[in-house]
Amino acid sequence: MAQHFDYIALGAGSGGIASANRAAMRGAKVLVIEAQHVGGTCVNVGCVPKKVMWYGAHIAEAMHLYAKDYGFDVTVNNFNWNTLVDSREAYIGRIHDAYGRGFANNKVTLVNGYGKFVNGNTIEVNGEQYTADHILIATGGAPTIPNIPGAEYGIDSNGFFALREQPKRVAVVGAGYIAVELAGVLHALGSETHLLVRKHAPLRNFDPILVDALVEAMATDGPTLHTHSIPKQVVKNADGSLTLELENGNSLEVDTLIWAIGRSPATGNIGLENTDVQLDEKGYVITDEQQNTTAKGIYCVGDIMKGGVELTPVAVKAGRLLSERLFGNMPDAKMDYSLIPTVVFSHPAIGTMGLTEPEAVEQYGEDKVKVYTSTFTSMYTAVTAHRQACKMKLVCAGDDEVVVGIHGIGFGMDEILQGFGVAMKMGATKAQFDAVVAIHPTGAEEFVTMR
Ligand code: NDP
Repeated sequence: MAQHFDYIALGAGSGGIASANRAAMRGAKVLVIEAQHVGGTCVNVGCVPKKVMWYGAHIAEAMHLYAKDYGFDVTVNNFNWNTLVDSREAYIGRIHDAYGRGFANNKVTLVNGYGKFVNGNTIEVNGEQYTADHILIATGGAPTIPNIPGAEYGIDSNGFFALREQPKRVAVVGAGYIAVELAGVLHALGSETHLLVRKHAPLRNFDPILVDALVEAMATDGPTLHTHSIPKQVVKNADGSLTLELENGNSLEVDTLIWAIGRSPATGNIGLENTDVQLDEKGYVITDEQQNTTAKGIYCVGDIMKGGVELTPVAVKAGRLLSERLFGNMPDAKMDYSLIPTVVFSHPAIGTMGLTEPEAVEQYGEDKVKVYTSTFTSMYTAVTAHRQACKMKLVCAGDDEVVVGIHGIGFGMDEILQGFGVAMKMGATKAQFDAVVAIHPTGAEEFVTMR
């Protein structure tokens, strides 16, 4: 006989875990089903291991680029990729343990196995059936691989995190967060790194000030950027190396090729055909603004949601709010998908929130948009031979100059944005930014002193 729960979360990634724990805290009897490691993409093959590698890259940059001018006579005899990977994986192991303790404290049941819908309120896993009044689909996504000959010789971001040997020569194909972040890390750690984008620049939909500064930084101390480079085929050579042939006639020989061209929702094989859940043509789950799917009692959060934002904290917040609505007496609770701050852990880091300048001009009209910018050299690098630019922009709209966009690239930008995000979410104006006394000397102070 099927075991019954109040709530089942299919997928123990960031969204599923957050929603399951919150539901349990509100008194629900909760089951979480996960086929792989608890923590999903973010913890196992995404944000967390990426940030560890990024910190590793920071240490490399500090020693190779900056230490000398700070008076340190640093000789680096060896960089052991495996030591970094071991430290990283041990840290992830401790996060797994913490999740286990969280589930135990909240009395959430975890079943390891691949779950599939049998019908609208039943999921089968490991041959057992579980029913629930409410079921959350939080199965996340997986990297997309292009459909070209030899694509299988490349690896994806999961493969990057599985690397036990540092690639000597590596090509990263893609123009989004993952491509930029992985290429930056690999370059800083000493791999000969090529970043191939199919258009004129990486992150081309970000504000132009960020794109231009990133491209400039790459040209100085970054991976080799190949623009207008569309892969045609990959050939494996007798010595194990790969030749990446491009549609523009160029080719590149590397040891490792990483595809980072986007991700696809993991909704194809979870039995949704046995439910009334509707997907769009790309496999994303159609939901309303309260995370309801088209099937009664089935909900969805995270990277599989049509029109969603593929960021861990978005899935976490949406998952918690859903549980508050279902079990916490908050019938109107819903996620606000507007004005979401985000950071790209590039070199240097990018922080961005709200409208880009072109978007603001389109939305409000050119005469209603006022833009403030600041360009300076980060103090950390200013005393060295490797000076690195910081560039910042405030996009303001209307007579009150409400700050509708904030964009920055430079040392520390990853930590700067969060607080300004609060101000923007409250609808702060440029005058209110200016009313705050600057903290000196920091990079952040530029945002309250722009003329
Ligand atoms: P993205 O969708 O952000 O970017 C992939 C880009 O690759 C596309 O925008 C496109 O850019 C380019 N591309 C697409 N198809 C091809 C192709 N066939 N050949 C060459 N280039 C192609 O995907 P990511 O995989 O980088 O990241 C997925 C999501 O994960 C992101 O949207 C982000 O929300 C999240 N993420 C967040 C991070 C963070 O918060 N720091 C870190 C990592 C991921 P173009 O059209 O310009 O060519």
